[in-house]
Amino acid sequence: MSTILNPATEEVIAEIEAAGVEETDAAVARAKEAFPAWRAVSPADRARLLRRLATLVEENLEELARIESRNVGKPIAGARGEVGMVAQVFHYYAGAVDKNFGETIPVAGGIDMTFREPLGVVGLIVPWNFPLNIASWKLGPALACGNTVVLKPAELTPLSALRLAELALEAGIPEGVLNVLPGKGSVVGQRLIEHPDVAKIGFTGSTEVGESVMRGAAATIKRVTLELGGKSANVVFADADLEKAAAAAPYAVFDNAGQDCCARSRILVEASAYDRFAELLVEATRGLRVGDPEDDATEMGPLVSAAHRETVASFVEAEPLYRGDTPDGKGFWYPATLIEARPEDRVAREEVFGPVAALIPFADEADAIRIANDSEYGLSGSIWTENGGRALRVARAIDTGVLSINSNSSVRPSTPFGGFKRSGFGRELGMHGLAGYSEVKNVFYSTE
Ligand code: NAD
Repeated sequence: MSTILNPATEEVIAEIEAAGVEETDAAVARAKEAFPAWRAVSPADRARLLRRLATLVEENLEELARIESRNVGKPIAGARGEVGMVAQVFHYYAGAVDKNFGETIPVAGGIDMTFREPLGVVGLIVPWNFPLNIASWKLGPALACGNTVVLKPAELTPLSALRLAELALEAGIPEGVLNVLPGKGSVVGQRLIEHPDVAKIGFTGSTEVGESVMRGAAATIKRVTLELGGKSANVVFADADLEKAAAAAPYAVFDNAGQDCCARSRILVEASAYDRFAELLVEATRGLRVGDPEDDATEMGPLVSAAHRETVASFVEAEPLYRGDTPDGKGFWYPATLIEARPEDRVAREEVFGPVAALIPFADEADAIRIANDSEYGLSGSIWTENGGRALRVARAIDTGVLSINSNSSVRPSTPFGGFKRSGFGRELGMHGLAGYSEVKNVFYSTE
């Protein structure tokens, strides 16, 4: 049994039976059994079922958002947005199913054609920060392409995935196609990675566990998609609209209490605008509404667990430029914190995964690019400037998978998402997401 807490109140909200190796094997066997019939469902019918699931998510949006908010401690307004995106992702892949077609290639002596085939049983392992949202990025393309799935939610946050499994059955998705298996990473996750009947692991989580996924997958030559950690840069040039950039910056790093792989937790500011920007940033951060996640107006909640709070606190080694307030009483609260740092400081190099941002000055464009790229990660980032040429020059020069210019935006259902370097590989969302859940088959038909 594992005990599920509300991080804002420390109240027990559920007791969950954790699956073991035996249950994992049984789930894989069910998914394997369901695969031939599911792959044979016509794309139009698979699309219809996915669309129905999307509609059920919309109809149950408030309930799913409340589950997510209570389980993760995230503000309800944000949770509604995330569940809304889950529905959009299913709608998107319902629309994409019949556009995932092959090619005909002119060759001598016949006709060559390609097909996109499903992989079989795929194992999906997801983290606790955006439990249902991240699961949907994998489930949408996996199911659309005709794979069957065993989904392992994070130990701390299994509730929304379990509810989704019920909705999938209600939508008419056949039994065995989507299996949700709460349990430990080291048990269920590990077994999925080793299992000879699992064709692929779609993983989102820490870079450390990502390494072991990749190592473990080698034995069976499993396909892997790895969405891992980040230490993204928010690059603010002196010619930017500083008010706008400073007003947006807290949301780019304190959203989800900083427990966001896309968090722009390194705020790089051109030296000539540094003092002014720091002043504006402190003001904007002071305005962040921290408190009860169930309150519609709340913008930042607690961290997910007491253990995680300890890790986050360990990054604050010096007196910060700014430290916000937190509610009194129970809950795993940690204040929004701004730290003036050097690029070599630990807080500027390692992923904090909490509401702690490092503020770093840079001299000029070349220096900004150098500091931004001086990271083992490359997931996300932002550039703020009113100079269009510079914006695109810098965007091309930063080694990262996702960038926004004069914006914090990172994810949309229709655009590719994924990392460079130790942030992982493979792309989710958009039409690129389909490539991770289908295999290209080449067929030559002789006409001679
Ligand atoms: P984590 O790596 O500890 O766990 C992620 C998942 O892997 C969980 O379901 C966990 O049970 C499972 N797991 C743990 N050990 C395992 C093992 N040995 N074998 C198989 N599975 C195992 O990560 P977390 O703490 O849940 O999430 C935080 C991390 O996730 C951060 O580093 C964050 O940057 C990253 N993240 C990345 C993205 C992205 O898209 N790039 C998105 C969200 C979170």
